[in-house]
Amino acid sequence: MTKKTAPLMKTIGLKKYFNVENGWKKLKSTVKAVDNVNFSIFPGETLGLVGESGCGKSTVGRLLLRLLEPTEGEIYYQGRNIVELPAGEMRKLRKHMQIVFHDPYTSLNPRMTVGNIIAEPLKIFGYGGASDIRERVMDLLSLVGLGSNHYDRYPHEFSGGQRQRAGIARALALHPKLVICDEPVSALDVSIQPQIINLLKELQGKLSLTYVFIARGLNVVKHMSDRVGVMYLGKMMELAGGEKLYASPLHPYTRALLSAIPVPNPKYKKSRIILEGEIPSPINPPVGCRFHTRCPERMERCSIDEPEFREVETGHWVACHLLEE
Ligand code: SF4
Repeated sequence: MTKKTAPLMKTIGLKKYFNVENGWKKLKSTVKAVDNVNFSIFPGETLGLVGESGCGKSTVGRLLLRLLEPTEGEIYYQGRNIVELPAGEMRKLRKHMQIVFHDPYTSLNPRMTVGNIIAEPLKIFGYGGASDIRERVMDLLSLVGLGSNHYDRYPHEFSGGQRQRAGIARALALHPKLVICDEPVSALDVSIQPQIINLLKELQGKLSLTYVFIARGLNVVKHMSDRVGVMYLGKMMELAGGEKLYASPLHPYTRALLSAIPVPNPKYKKSRIILEGEIPSPINPPVGCRFHTRCPERMERCSIDEPEFREVETGHWVACHLLEE
């Protein structure tokens, strides 16, 4: 948000509300999955988006690609508001914006060979003849650490890590600029996760990719992200450079999330901040600060006034009354 280069992507007042209907199609309530979220993504960076289940981070990822239509707000890609783009224009732009899904077991069609799965976007976008496409798929398999012998195999013949590599190859097929990595390692064994994270980092360097890396925990994004945004109940609570956020978090929710990261040293005693209660329902989110029902530092005004998401120091954005003069 404060970098000198122009953002690759930027959201202004982004909202996504889902109507929840009963069996008779009468509107019962509205889920405010994403509620007035503002941030920028700069070329070549990794922006980590973190938060517990239901905080809206994956919905933000899908909104950025317009896989979901926003209820309100603007999404700028290289200066163009893509919310206003007609379907045909948006389709052309999709080449530049791809997604790696979190579950490599369900995101690959079990009836297609991995070669055909990776070739599919190339065919849809008219990449070239059959031999050009096959050559490109072979290059992609090699790029993600798979071999030509994997081309004719089916997803069920792959391990979880290999499937995710295939998913990454498919996402990279059309030379995208931006890749949304939606919890790309959460469905994998802990022993495999670093391999996929390292692969994504390596590919970012080689291909000058920009990532939005979505994860549940701050530990997953720590070694991956240049900047990290922390979401809670559809709102951005804190956004800062990775080092800054881990060294001096300003929002009580970020501090609680950080305190939950295990330290691999039995002699080191860390004081864990235990949050009271469950996350409230996004159907009826708390008035004032959305975090106030669980915040160990809440004040009277927190249940009345909603804190503004503002830049408290260069590049460090927080929504909390504690930071207001
Ligand atoms: Fe806690 Fe109040 Fe800050 Fe919300 S605004 S995080 S309730 S101190």
